[in-house]
Formats: sequence, C-alpha cells, structure tokens
Amino acid sequence: MTAAPQTESDHRLPRTVIPARYQLVLEPDLPGASFTGMLDVDVDVTTAVDHVLLNAAELEITGAEVDGRPVPFTLQPATERVRLDVSLEPGPARVHLEFTGTLNDKLRGWYRSTYRDEDGREQVIATSQMQTTDCRRAFPCWDEPDLKAVFDVTLVVEPHLLAISNGAEVERTERPDGRHAVRFAPTMPMSTYLVAFVVGPLEATEPVMVPKLDGGEIPLRIVHVPGKGRLTGFGLDVGAFALEWYQRYYGIPYPTDKCDMVALPDFAAGAMENLGCITYRESLLLCDPATSTQAEQQLVADVVTHELAHMWFGDLVTMRWWNGIWLNEAFATFMEVACCDAYRPDWKRWTTFSLERTMAFDTDALVSTRSVEFPVAAPDECAGMFDVLTYQKGGALLRMLEQYLGEEEFRRGISHYLTVHEHGNTETGDLWDAIEAVNPATPVRRMMDSWIWQPGHPLVEARLDGDRLHLRQQRFHVAGADLGADAATVFVVPLHLRNGDVSWKVLLDAAEATVALPHPDEPVLVNAGGHGFVRVAYTDELRARLTGSALSSLSIIDRYNLVDDAWNAVVAGRLASTDFLSFVEGFAGERDLAVWQAMGIGLRGVGRLLDGGAYERFQERVRDLVAPAMADLGWEPAEDEDDLTGKLRGTLVGLLGALGDDADAQQRCRRIVEAPDGVDPELVAAAITVVATVGDEADYERFLATFRAAPTPQDQLRALYALADFPTAELVGRTLELALGGEVKTQNAPFLLGRCIANRHHGRLAWDFVRRHWTQANAAFPENTIVRMIDPVRLLTDPDVVADVQSFFAEHPIPQSAKTLDQVLERQRVNAALRAREQERLSAAMAG
Ligand SMILES: [Zn+2]
Repeated sequence: MTAAPQTESDHRLPRTVIPARYQLVLEPDLPGASFTGMLDVDVDVTTAVDHVLLNAAELEITGAEVDGRPVPFTLQPATERVRLDVSLEPGPARVHLEFTGTLNDKLRGWYRSTYRDEDGREQVIATSQMQTTDCRRAFPCWDEPDLKAVFDVTLVVEPHLLAISNGAEVERTERPDGRHAVRFAPTMPMSTYLVAFVVGPLEATEPVMVPKLDGGEIPLRIVHVPGKGRLTGFGLDVGAFALEWYQRYYGIPYPTDKCDMVALPDFAAGAMENLGCITYRESLLLCDPATSTQAEQQLVADVVTHELAHMWFGDLVTMRWWNGIWLNEAFATFMEVACCDAYRPDWKRWTTFSLERTMAFDTDALVSTRSVEFPVAAPDECAGMFDVLTYQKGGALLRMLEQYLGEEEFRRGISHYLTVHEHGNTETGDLWDAIEAVNPATPVRRMMDSWIWQPGHPLVEARLDGDRLHLRQQRFHVAGADLGADAATVFVVPLHLRNGDVSWKVLLDAAEATVALPHPDEPVLVNAGGHGFVRVAYTDELRARLTGSALSSLSIIDRYNLVDDAWNAVVAGRLASTDFLSFVEGFAGERDLAVWQAMGIGLRGVGRLLDGGAYERFQERVRDLVAPAMADLGWEPAEDEDDLTGKLRGTLVGLLGALGDDADAQQRCRRIVEAPDGVDPELVAAAITVVATVGDEADYERFLATFRAAPTPQDQLRALYALADFPTAELVGRTLELALGGEVKTQNAPFLLGRCIANRHHGRLAWDFVRRHWTQANAAFPENTIVRMIDPVRLLTDPDVVADVQSFFAEHPIPQSAKTLDQVLERQRVNAALRAREQERLSAAMAG
C-alpha cells in the first residue's frame, strides 16, 4: 500500500515528505565541546510512505518519534542520512528527534572558535558554518536548498554568554539550573544552508537603526570578541549604507527583522550570508580607518556589501540545486562592486575591478578552464565552484550584460526576477528570462547561454579592411594550448566600439563581421570602456593609433586593458617579452593607480623570466621607469590627497623598493618600519613588504612581535605574511615552522605557506617543506584552503621542480578542488614554457 519514494538518489531526498517548520532547541556545552538537541519538524506527507529519510551526519540520535509514537531508526553514515521506519498517509505529521553532537575544530557544521582574553585565558565560541551541506552536522534536517522551511530556534546557554541566531531574540526564560533558554523569532521560509547560531563570551555594538523600505527599522549590529568594539565603526557604516542602497536597488524591503554581522576568530571561508546573522573573518569586518590602507578598507567594504547583497539574491530567492551556486556568487560579486562604487565613488571601484577581471582571464585562458555553469549531481561537486571563474568571471559577465543593456534596464530586470520568485527557488535561465521580459529587444538568454555553458572567452582581432573594420573572434588561449575544435567556439559578444568621437554597440555573434567606420583614419577602440570579457588584438597600425600621444585620450580602463592585453599576448606567444618591456616603458607618464597595477603584473612576470646579472639590469630599468612617477608624487602625502593617490604611492614604493631593489627606497622604508606612528598607512604597508624582501633577523623579530601583539587584524596579517618574504633560507625556514606550529590560526597558515612558495629565492625550499608535511597540513587546515596553499607553485619554473610538483600531485590529488589543481598545474607548465621561450632573448636584450 505504500508507493515507492519519488526520485530518491544518494544525493537527493525523496519529495514524499516535505518539511514546513522546524522547532529546534540546542544546548551547547562549550568547555565540553559538545551539544544536545531536540527537534520537532512539521512536515507535509505528499505520498503515502513506509519510511522517512532526512540528513544527519556525525550526530548521535537518542530518540525518535513521529506523531507522538516512538519509531525505529537507522543511521546511514555513507549517505549522511537517518531513516525512520514509519508508515504515513498523505497529510501533516510531526517528526520528533533527540540527539547529541560534537563542537568540532574543522570549522564546519557547529564548531569551536577560540581566542585569548586579556588575562591570556582561552575562551571558546560555538559558531556555525552550514554551507554547503554541513547543517546536517548540527541537527537532523532535509539538507537541500529547495526544501525551504521556517526555523524556530531556541538556544539554552550560560547566562553570561551572548547567543544569537537568524531571528531577533523574542523570549528569554531562566531555567532551574540557572541557564537561559533564549528563543529567536521564527525565520522566513529559507534553506538549511543559511541557518546560523553563535554562542560565546562576545560583545555586540549598540544597534544602528536603518530605515526599512516599508516602514520600521532594521537594527544593525556587529558582534565581536571583547575589546574590539573600537574596530566596528567602519563596518557598521558600510553595512548601514548597503542596507538602504539595496532596498532601493532591488525595490524590495530587507527580508528579515534584524541584521547581525559577527566577527569570528576562526573562519574557513571569508564570510557567510546566513540570513540576518552574517559571519565573517575578523580581518574582513573589523578595521581602523586611521591605520588601515585603502585596499584593506575596500576589502571590508566589498565583503560586507557582498554578504548583504545575498540577503535578497540567494536568501530570499535561492538556487534550486548546487549547480546554481555560481550565479549566487557571481551576482553577489557584481553587486558588491556596484554598491561599493556607490558608497565610495572616489575609490573608482568599477575601474579597479579590472584587476579581478584579469585574475579570471588568467585561469580562463587555460585548456583546463571550465564552463561557468556545469551539472552537479553530488553536492560535493560544487565545492570546485567556489573559484575565480564563479566569482570574478561570473561577476564580469554580469557587468558586461549590464553595460550592454544599460544600468537601469538591468536593474529593472533584477527587481522583476526577485519579485516574481520571492521565497522560491530558481534555475539560471529564470534570471535571463526575467531580464529579457523587461528588455524584450535584447536576446539576453541566447547571449548569456553562450558565455555560461561554453568554457573560455574570445580573442577579438581587429584590422582595417579599406574604410571598414574587420572583426574576427576565436577562443583565446595561452601559448602551447591545444584547444582542438574548441578554438572555433563562437560567443555572442556585446562590443562597445569607438572611432574618433563616435561610440556605438554591436553584437558580434558570428566568427567574423565587418563594421562601417564613421572616421576610418582616426583611432579605433574595440571593447571601449573595457566591460567586455574579451581580449583584443589590434594590428600594429591600429595599435599605433592608440598609443603615444593618443594614450591620454583613453579612459583608465582602456589604458589598463592595453597593458593587460599586451602582457597576455606575451603569455600567449604573440608578443616578445622584449617588446612588452619597451611598450610598458611608453607608459612612464602614467599617473593612474589601476594602470600601474597592470604594469606591475607584467613587470613582475618579466622579472620571473630572469636571473643573475640580467635580472639586475632589468631591475635598473624598473627603477628608471618608476622613479619619475615617484618623484612627481613625493614621499609625503599632500593634506587633501585622495585615497587612490596614497595607494598609488604605496604601489610605486613597492615596485621601486622590492622589484626595483632601489637602495634609497629601502632605506626610507626601513625608517618607516622603525617609527611607523603618524605615517600614512599606505606607506607603512608598502614599507613592511619592501623591508621584508631585504630584511635581517632583527627585522624578522620586529614583524614577529607585531604579529603577536597587533592592535588590528590588518596590522597582524601584514606582519604575518611579510614573514614569508625574507631573503634568507634560515628566516623563511622559521616561517615555515611557524605556520605549522599551532600559533598561526589554521584559517591563515595555508596562505602563509603559499606566500613562502611565492618567495623568489626560496620557493623551492618552501615547496619541499609543504610536500614533506602534506599529510599534516591536510589534517590541520580547512579543506577549501589546501589548493590555495599550493597555488603559488605556478611560479616555480625550474624544470626539476616542475617535474617534482607535477608528479607529486599525480599521486596526491586534492579531490575537493580537482579542477583548480589542474589549472594550477597547467599554469605552472605554461610559465615554465614561457621562461624557456623568452629567457635567452630577454637576457640578451638586458645585456645590450
Ligand atoms: Zn557570496
């Protein structure tokens, strides 16, 4: 009499029993690192069943009842499920479970985070990270994003501890044992991966009251470890701005009753968009504007605006399954830049976004790149989606679409999408259809499908054909890559063209096209404004029209792209590195930060091709190139200077002192490091990097002491990561030991080891160390950080090290990041080939 479950698989629960409302009581024991829980779930039985399946992992179930009657149950660890043997007819039912679990140290599920208080005693926080499928480690649940439900949470805690969850506290009762049962407002229907609870000796700021679009107010707070309240002002300011801005942008009120942002000492990712209870690494939420750099502040602003964007896009409207995670993240990346640009127009956020686009291009030029979206069966398969192609490429594609449609036209499409699908779950195509519905003249779905489902991006070659412009697209790739038939991939490319004083848009949706030019003798700019996710190759004639005196008429992004495209033409084997160097030297008059950042990427790349005397002569040329700009700017910031000018100074000091090995700059940097009080933070940060590259043991001790007693997370990380840059094997060796010694948080240690691998002189030593400690590192560090730790092996290009790295990973795969590992290894081979190809000619040119 019982029907078979509908579409049950190892990864998908049957849709025969659907949760509607969870009532959850959790009682953590912080010193004991454990918790007990009691759960009542109101479910709808859609089809008669003889058992109920839900997810549970690493929990001990101590009792199970359905509709008040005890039922037998079985744990199925392989599929992370619990099976209740009970026959149910269609209609409502109530599932009751009691369970215990462990507060783990793996930074997932419900886990322990620790800090030392003023008296040096360790204090414990219990905090949660559910995405992707770790909610089942905190309580039994239907752990799939489209099984949205209401969560009614109560935490039973020691009275001196702060306890928060997704909803606002609505009730507090003292129990006979003195503990407090703190009940939170039931949530809107939402996915399990957004559930959060945090309990610990923490403090909260006074709430900032942000107006709600439909009346009322949103209390916004930052929760932090005691003593760090003075670092919350900036994050609160950004957060309040973003909450107002998003409500207007989306045209929808903030979807819940309060907003807590929690700064945690231990966090595997950067931050997590739990509805109304957003968790962050401390360095991404807490900062002191007086002592932090623009980059450090922008990072906080980016992450805060990113997470708040998710409250609507992700939390209110959610992907149906994990294949949709890319859109969730790409969209939040796009919005973070848009909102940050509105928050601080002087930071020119859409211009500096070029750097992120470059990062995406780098990976996307490899044979081992992937399509942005791909089918996901097991949830684990989406772990590889949290990468540069999702965030940076996905964000850049949305920017490209927005600029083609127009900002207001795009915004109306987004608002329409969120309104139509409110509280629901969607597939990617639903977004394109919603945007197209309000912009019927543009083939949004056809265009975006060509970018989402095909890997790579086009190289658009431009040449003159009489009075016309001839455009041809083919897939861009690094030298030596064999794309086979994929080289002919055709994208639907929205292009902005400029010729003389005329600008217009075309949709290049075939391999070739010819376009009439209004002023055939004047400069022609393809991808004007730089929003297209394309590389451009001009003929010598067309490029010559854009350089020299014409440079100053180009926008910053256009100049950025000229440099970036040129360096990548070297990587692609279409331009000699010697020609690139001369080309960049034509930018000596450049005074914009973003363009100097592009130049810096190329110059560091060239530096990696050289050794010995040739490298020293290259460093001389770097000094000659940078010195005039530095002299113009001076070492002393002007009174009314804007943030980006200060940041440019820091960038130039880094180029001059570290890459250029300029003795005078190094002397000045040392004086700054010895007496940093009152010095501009941009100079302090740059000086630390410069001094580390030439530092001695005394410098090392100074940075180590700063790491141990830094007043802000930013000061701490600057000092810590600089320990990787020292010039002697002995000091780098100390840093390697430090990374694994337990003193460095496991959230930071993998990045410290990675930075040691990037050390120009001792990368091999660091690689050997990581290789020897592979098992230990994998056991100690969060899973998602392992591939990031070894990412800099791409810079190790000596043939024997290349062989060693490649064969090591053949035997030691990183299953949670298999695709990213492939990309790192391919990039290493590409870099090694580039060096082999260019070194001789470039060295000879340096001698001449
Ligand atoms: Zn996100």
